[in-house]
Amino acid sequence: MFDNLSEKLDKALHILKGHGKITEVNVADTLKEVRRALLDADVNFKIAKDFTTKVKEKAIGENVLTTLQPGQLMVKLVKDELTELMGGDVSGINLSGNPTIILMSGLQGSGKTTFSGKLANYLKTKKNKKPLLVACDIYRPAAINQLHVVGEQIGVEVYSEEGNKNAVEIAQNAIKHAKANGFNVVIVDTAGRLAIDEEMMNEIANVHKAIEPNETLFVVDSMTGQDAVNTAKAFNDRLDFDGVILTKLDGDTRGGAAISIKSVVNKPIKFIGTGEKMEAIDVFYPSRMADRILG
Ligand code: GDP
Repeated sequence: MFDNLSEKLDKALHILKGHGKITEVNVADTLKEVRRALLDADVNFKIAKDFTTKVKEKAIGENVLTTLQPGQLMVKLVKDELTELMGGDVSGINLSGNPTIILMSGLQGSGKTTFSGKLANYLKTKKNKKPLLVACDIYRPAAINQLHVVGEQIGVEVYSEEGNKNAVEIAQNAIKHAKANGFNVVIVDTAGRLAIDEEMMNEIANVHKAIEPNETLFVVDSMTGQDAVNTAKAFNDRLDFDGVILTKLDGDTRGGAAISIKSVVNKPIKFIGTGEKMEAIDVFYPSRMADRILG
């Protein structure tokens, strides 16, 4: 995960790590290299620039050059800033509803259906919940089948209505079904399109309004870099979602989405997907991710 970025940051911070005494020039050079590493990882220009400005300000504020171990302090400042950028504290999922209603949003292929299954499995096995999965994709029968396959795999019931072309109605009926049958979490998997379009946005906005979810999650493929951030912005403008799910972090992703998305939409990354298997789900910890990136 993020091997290239880790390597570049390690190189950038190398000068500082080795020096007992460092100079203003060392600090400036290092920050320039840090910024370059972030840009190479597909972090947007403004975010990368703000990042190094903030680290520089903190370094001045803490009189970094006169401290005993200036190099180590600089590394810590970079790590702290990276943690902050990715969200600071860990954000849990709100399970207070009865039933808790979770709406999944995102483009087709982002990993929505897979993640819906992973989340249901996680809530069932780790949180002792009784989840119901809802297939709300009224355009692609294959997507409904896919969710049924996932449900079978993890032993979770899947609600679908063959032939019904009204996503709002299906979602509402599913919630009624959940209430009548003792399900305490309802995970609604919605239709995704290959690109953002008005019809899709209207449909998911209508479902959102009708079922008033406790959690609206936006699923995005981390391999798509800056596009991931732009798509997040478009969905957030319409849905004002509660959290982001970054999938495919097991692939050869450069890291830009993970680093930038929080500061663009001001919503936390809640979970990450790290593989195709149902167990490949992790809670997102910004500080652990920063540790991992900085080695
Ligand atoms: P949807 O169209 O948004 O519902 O996306 P799918 O759940 O069908 O996922 C699209 C493809 O990405 C499938 O082949 C999944 O197996 C794969 N996929 C989903 N999540 C992950 C992940 O975290 N890592 C990897 N490597 N593949 C994933």
